[in-house]
Amino acid sequence: MPATPAWPPQSAPRLFVDQPLALDATITLSGPQAHYLLNVMRISEGDAIKLFDNVSGEYLATVTARGKRDLALNVAGHLRAREEVPDFWACVAPIKRQRFDMMAEKLCELGVKRLVPVKTARAVVDKIKPERMMAHMIEAAEQCERTALPELGDLVSLDKLLDLWPADRHLFFADERLHETGNGSFRKALRENPGPGAILIGPEGGFTDAENAAINACPQSIPVSLGPRILRADTAALAATALWMAGRGDWD
Ligand code: SAH
Repeated sequence: MPATPAWPPQSAPRLFVDQPLALDATITLSGPQAHYLLNVMRISEGDAIKLFDNVSGEYLATVTARGKRDLALNVAGHLRAREEVPDFWACVAPIKRQRFDMMAEKLCELGVKRLVPVKTARAVVDKIKPERMMAHMIEAAEQCERTALPELGDLVSLDKLLDLWPADRHLFFADERLHETGNGSFRKALRENPGPGAILIGPEGGFTDAENAAINACPQSIPVSLGPRILRADTAALAATALWMAGRGDWD
């Protein structure tokens, strides 16, 4: 007797909807989401779609009506609650847009709770496009099956970030100058510092000496090395986040 296929099919499209979801609600999708479902996925009436709203979790919805440019869905079942996201922030100086957008997508997949763009002296980019970044993170969340979106902080100066730094959150400061000193073992720092965390990554040009001093003066800062090689900022952000997720996050 062949096993009954799991319902909804793993291949069911999965979309974030920025409206509150509830059982038996009727949802209407239009615009790019409708275009994707109608013309790319060629969805039919009765097909299943997974929806999540970043508030109450993930639901199964079935298509009840197809229009030319919109479609109606009935929210038929609640699949999962909104997850508890590992309490980790990635604080990163903006780098060139494509790389920054890709980094945002990957940080979402890795499970960060919050992405904080930090304006530093040598940052080559001094403004960000929040809508674009959020769109990349939403797409990543849809694909990697998060039920909670990462938060995107406003672009903040390093001084202000440090002034307002929460007393209960470790700030792992990625310092590429540390390796030759033999200090800054990230593994050791993670073992000794449980609880909410964050990584701070500088721009392509690194932090200035004054910035270095200011970061080390922050009571919550813990300088860490990411090895003997100089990593690009996006590589450093992803590597540090993966290490934290494996050591202190939800990968076990
Ligand atoms: N100042 C470097 C470039 C900075 S790399 C140079 O001289 O070329 C961008 C950022 O990535 C750094 O500010 C740091 O936060 C992080 N980073 C890169 N490699 C690192 C390493 N091996 N250890 C710790 N942090 C690193």
